[in-house]
Amino acid sequence: MNATSESIFRTNSSGQAFTPTVNYLGAVNALAVMEIIRILGPISRADLARRSQFKPAALTGLVRYLIEEGLVIEGSERRPVTSSGRPARLLRVNSGSRTVLGIDIEPDHLRIAVADLSGAILNYRQTVCDRQQDPEATFRLIDSLSREMGIKPGSIVGVGVSCAGFLDEQNGVLLGSTNLPKWQNVPVRQNLENLFGVPVQVGRSIHQAAWAEHWFRDKTEYGKVLTVTLRTGVGFALLDNGTVYQGHDHYDGELGHTLIDINGSLCECGRRGCLETFLSPASITRRVKTLVEKGKAGGLKPLLAAGLEIDPELVYRMARDGDVDCLSIVNDLIHYLGFGIGNLVNLLNPSSVVLCGAIEIVNEELLETLRTEIQKQCLPQSWRGLTVRLSKHAERSALLGAAVRATQYYVNSVVQSDIAA
Ligand SMILES: [Zn+2]
Repeated sequence: MNATSESIFRTNSSGQAFTPTVNYLGAVNALAVMEIIRILGPISRADLARRSQFKPAALTGLVRYLIEEGLVIEGSERRPVTSSGRPARLLRVNSGSRTVLGIDIEPDHLRIAVADLSGAILNYRQTVCDRQQDPEATFRLIDSLSREMGIKPGSIVGVGVSCAGFLDEQNGVLLGSTNLPKWQNVPVRQNLENLFGVPVQVGRSIHQAAWAEHWFRDKTEYGKVLTVTLRTGVGFALLDNGTVYQGHDHYDGELGHTLIDINGSLCECGRRGCLETFLSPASITRRVKTLVEKGKAGGLKPLLAAGLEIDPELVYRMARDGDVDCLSIVNDLIHYLGFGIGNLVNLLNPSSVVLCGAIEIVNEELLETLRTEIQKQCLPQSWRGLTVRLSKHAERSALLGAAVRATQYYVNSVVQSDIAA
């Protein structure tokens, strides 16, 4: 990054006073400085200069601009102190100045969060949904939940939405979803813009989860990160040095529909042997029945005898509590997940794999099992140096990603609106 002088900013007619108006290069640089402050802040101006490599005059102008726009604040801190012994004045994102709303529409759950400009969640609601309900019922639910949360017109500056299915991201229209049968050509963005009166950004859950990993990355950590999202389906997204790969029509990442067995069971997509047929609730019920027929899985036998559907979460819980038969089922699922992820690692050679979504069941022991299964499928060159870890955000990954994309959109629009004509 380089900026030659403060001339990237417009000055008033006397050429002296700063006005909050930038040219295109100034806008790009202001966003770059904002990002460094967000990731490394609180940070002193000296450190910021060292990290950004902007020349002092340019940096002074950029910081002043961000402060005047209310996006950054500078305050006295107890530590670190300067060499003169005075408290250092540190820059940080003015996170409390605005809030955004994140909404995660899953077939069986609706999650809503109010987040500040740093991405911290201030208020959160989660509720169970009926996947058979029509979209209008979901929008009414969003309306009532947001009222309960105290969201009023003008209290948020943007909304970010995460949803699964076939999405026209450009227009924010959910074209269809195998798990939401009544959602056909639903104008999600339009409905929510009518409801909240602010810009709405809509994205697929796998991409939003990847954005959350990027936003909350560890300091300046960059790399080629494969995020694998376990939700109603299984998807992935590739983060490549700060951008999320998206296919021609955004329909990438369908890990659950990669072929594992050409003679396998029929998948919801209409083909046979997809990875999801090995991980789906129906396949878990099938495994339980097989075990019961062999006189095993005694803890689940009463449920089957009563004709009840086996809830996968029950199997996970029992596995975690030490039920050997349930643990064998979970290990079987991890075995197949390892196939799917191992194939991807061989194809894409990422630096790390991060598991997002419904991962509460994956404790350190199971994570180690997954690492072993992935390694078995990897070429040695692809496996070398690969880290496999759990996301810190688990089931909130896509929700957080949606919220931070609303924040990004807001910050970009503030700065770009100041670009001189
Ligand atoms: Zn399929």
